[in-house]
Amino acid sequence: MADDASPHPPSGGLTLVATPIGNLDDVPARALQALRAADSVLCEDTRVTAKLLARHGVAARLHALHDHNEEAEAVRLVKRMQEGARLALVSDAGTPLVSDPGFRLVRAAIAAGVPVTGVPGPNAALLALTLSGLPPHPFLFAGFLPAREAARAAEVARLRALEGAGLSATLVFYEAPHRAAEALAALRDGLGPARPAALARELTKTFEEVRRGTLDALAEGALADPPRGEVVLLVGPAPPPEAPPEAELDALLRRAMETMSRRDAAAHVAAATGLPRKQVYARALEM
Ligand code: SAM
Repeated sequence: MADDASPHPPSGGLTLVATPIGNLDDVPARALQALRAADSVLCEDTRVTAKLLARHGVAARLHALHDHNEEAEAVRLVKRMQEGARLALVSDAGTPLVSDPGFRLVRAAIAAGVPVTGVPGPNAALLALTLSGLPPHPFLFAGFLPAREAARAAEVARLRALEGAGLSATLVFYEAPHRAAEALAALRDGLGPARPAALARELTKTFEEVRRGTLDALAEGALADPPRGEVVLLVGPAPPPEAPPEAELDALLRRAMETMSRRDAAAHVAAATGLPRKQVYARALEM
């Protein structure tokens, strides 16, 4: 329920502030309040954040926090907050921590009992998901696929194995534009050419585009017309497993029940076939 009394940045605490993913006007009023109220704004690239702050007339002291110095800086920053400093954390774009720095600082702050709050706002994965036309939940945000071909294929195979074990979710990936075509090809090869998918690029910017189609069509399209700018790749949920013929299911159950209880045998066969456990158990009862 809406509540007008928005919590101000805690004194002696950390506020995670989401920033635009392209359109610099996508800044909630409360984000500006939090940035103004902060003693220091922690950011990845001070030039990127300075540009955003200048656009909105916010004067703030900027402090660089990135993957290379976060672990070491976390201890010092937590101490500052314990002494009363109000810190805000932003990334170059979108929601901090989501494929961006900040997790180690948040973990350290929580461990030290320092208050952590946030101002929600833009996030490329969620916007892409809602524009994709693919089922919005459950979804699995997988971040970036590995850049190297073998590691990427292994990661896609791991996701396929999870699907084989019952995962049925829309998959969401971040990707660098120059790797979009090869990533789509790896997803097609590992998950199947007919899977519904989407490529969302340049969201909230002038050349915003969402391509929708099968993995095969999108992979081919990315070769013919390489997507420029920032991209999110999405793959619709794995189709439900095909039920084995009744006689085959019965044979599997009979074999499992030679060594297991009816309940365990049903669970075992459900896992092996991907069928709902309830359905397999009901069949085991009938037999
Ligand atoms: N923290 C950010 C967020 O909340 O969305 C993500 C940062 S991650 C380092 C950058 C990746 O996000 C890009 O490689 C791209 O996959 C995706 N991305 C960021 N901005 C985007 C945009 N405007 N359109 C599409 N994808 C975007």
